[in-house]
Amino acid sequence: MRLTDTRTRRVEEIRPERSRRLTMYACGPTVYRSQHVGNLRTFVLGDLISRCAETLHGWSVELVQNITDVGHLADDTGIELAGEDKLLLAAREENRDPFEIARFYEAQFHEDCAALNIKPAARYPRASECIELIVDLISRLMDKQHAYVGADGSVYFDARSFPSYGAISGNRLEDLRAGHRQDAAELSAGKRFHADWALWKSAGANRQMVWDTAWGPGFPGWHIECSAMSLHYLGETFDIHTGGIDLRFPHHEDERAQSESAVGHEVVRHWVHGEHLLADGRKMAKSTGNVVLVRDVAERGFDPLAVRLFYLTGRYRQQMNLTWDAIAGADRRLRRWRTKVAAWAEAPSAAMAEDYVGRLREAFEDDLDTPTALVALADLEKDDAVPAGAKFETFAWVDRVLGLDLVRDVGKPVMAAELPDGAADLLQRRERARAAKDWAASDTLRDELTSLGVAVTDGPDGQTWTVS
Ligand SMILES: [Zn+2]
Repeated sequence: MRLTDTRTRRVEEIRPERSRRLTMYACGPTVYRSQHVGNLRTFVLGDLISRCAETLHGWSVELVQNITDVGHLADDTGIELAGEDKLLLAAREENRDPFEIARFYEAQFHEDCAALNIKPAARYPRASECIELIVDLISRLMDKQHAYVGADGSVYFDARSFPSYGAISGNRLEDLRAGHRQDAAELSAGKRFHADWALWKSAGANRQMVWDTAWGPGFPGWHIECSAMSLHYLGETFDIHTGGIDLRFPHHEDERAQSESAVGHEVVRHWVHGEHLLADGRKMAKSTGNVVLVRDVAERGFDPLAVRLFYLTGRYRQQMNLTWDAIAGADRRLRRWRTKVAAWAEAPSAAMAEDYVGRLREAFEDDLDTPTALVALADLEKDDAVPAGAKFETFAWVDRVLGLDLVRDVGKPVMAAELPDGAADLLQRRERARAAKDWAASDTLRDELTSLGVAVTDGPDGQTWTVS
């Protein structure tokens, strides 16, 4: 398996450190609002890596994904709100208990992942339930003099104590300037250097989501959560760390500094980042008003997996632009493939089309080149030299990586509910006749359908019909 490693800036050969067992950590959601399809694109990236590891290499995958339910500060939402916890902010806006909000959006996150066929992680540790781990790790960093207690009672990481800071993002300490209002406020309150960051925040006026420690009541910083959970659940070395490109700095840079300073060596073997999903040409954000949720897709009558297929039309490390036309196109292709796969399933069984399996493997192995894999599938779909049974086997196999439920319609009557009696069967037979290029049978079947009040037209996406 080859993937682009953000730290080395190269495509690296991925081999699990523990043979045949790939360990992976994925930065999870901050559960104060719905995850949009831009966030979910990154989670599908982790899922694709897992599925390739399992299907193409026979490795088992141990994936840990955190749930941030405390400590993620809303320092980008406006001046007066700077520094407030995202959960507490949402709790105040919605007039609900912060943990009630956290559990609500956590459940929704799991539902959205399931709708996109993202296989569940082995564990989803919640930050609020890992406070002891976090406090222990901060104590270790204090003991090793990588951290100090500021005048405000918060505990800060000493950025200058970690010489390779900036290796992932290329941001060098000397080039970072105190720019944020947040930085300025913290500098005056207690941190010694603008690039230092809080590991433990003094509670201040906060009464909710606060824990008692030797440094006084407070709550953890966001970055230390991921260090504490990944070290605890995956150990001092693990294979892959995924996340959205916006987490590269400061979140992952700070995580790397914390984890390595605690154990004395590189912890993450490969950093893999997914690029942004734009909507209408702009970054998807609540403030821009261009957020798309999985439920919006379903409400417009599209299969949520059309979103997953849409992601696969781009490379993970390239920005993509989401439009409703693109989702509609992916939805049509998904339905056409399922209909064809169901038709091919009726044909005599045959072995997989090895040439195509080779092309597909090569594409996935080449830094998850999913667009090239989809081209191979489109070629296979049209290749008359490949028997229908072989097409079925190949599509069914590749779907273990793609996760598009391509075999969903196998053995099912087509859209039976909307059609007059017998029409679904005729449509299926006609689809098969057309796949076999038996145009005479196709025309006869069309006439039979017309007499039932079903008008069939043939387009580039296969047959479509209307019932009069
Ligand atoms: Zn993280």
